[in-house]
Amino acid sequence: MKILLLKDKQITSAKLKRVQKQLEAMYADHAIIKLEWAIEEMDYTEYPVEEYSPGDFGIKRAWIRDKCAEVHKRWREEIDHVVFMVHSDNWELPGVWGWNLSKVYSGYGVQQVRFADVPTHTIERNTNNSVGTLYHELMHDHDAFVYTYLGINIEPLVKVDDWDHNLVHGNSEKWKYIRFNENLDGLATISPLLRQAITKRREIFTHYTGLQKQVIALLQQKAVLLRQLIAEQRGDIAILEDNVCK
Ligand SMILES: [Zn+2]
Repeated sequence: MKILLLKDKQITSAKLKRVQKQLEAMYADHAIIKLEWAIEEMDYTEYPVEEYSPGDFGIKRAWIRDKCAEVHKRWREEIDHVVFMVHSDNWELPGVWGWNLSKVYSGYGVQQVRFADVPTHTIERNTNNSVGTLYHELMHDHDAFVYTYLGINIEPLVKVDDWDHNLVHGNSEKWKYIRFNENLDGLATISPLLRQAITKRREIFTHYTGLQKQVIALLQQKAVLLRQLIAEQRGDIAILEDNVCK
């Protein structure tokens, strides 16, 4: 699973590394999934916000849509998630730690997360930690991700009606909402499907890239033939002999 972090330039690499390492271990140990990263820096001293639901603010969706479209030009389907990672000093969404928007913008799982001053799991149940927040928002995405690529609902596997409400938000007997290593059993249970879905997305990307190459090759061939045709009509042997397409 490859994640593009659009990281606030105020976040130090050392702190970010610690978060990445903890998250990598969680996915490796419980889902047998290798996390891969791409990192680009962003300036979050100013960004637009809007009300998502009464009293709950998020980063303006039109702004996110445009950023994701830019990202798609560079990365296409090579990445699965785009994370807007904002340092707590620049976080302008009071009372909210993060948001997930699945498959809305350029086909990505999009997360907005607050990067806390104490980023890692240092004490039990510290809800104010970046590992827990990022993991929580990624978890929100997994049901949509699996459904998109395999057409399968993951809820029956973990015996809930609603993945987001019952499991990720802990509204059921078995599952918790504490942002500290929560619901890793759930992650393990759905992991075979999650791995299959990731493979499927890769296959689609590889197929698409292959098709793109074929189209380019065909267009080049067409250009060669056109030049040949024109040269023949003109009786221009010199062009024919030098008939390479550049
Ligand atoms: Zn949530």
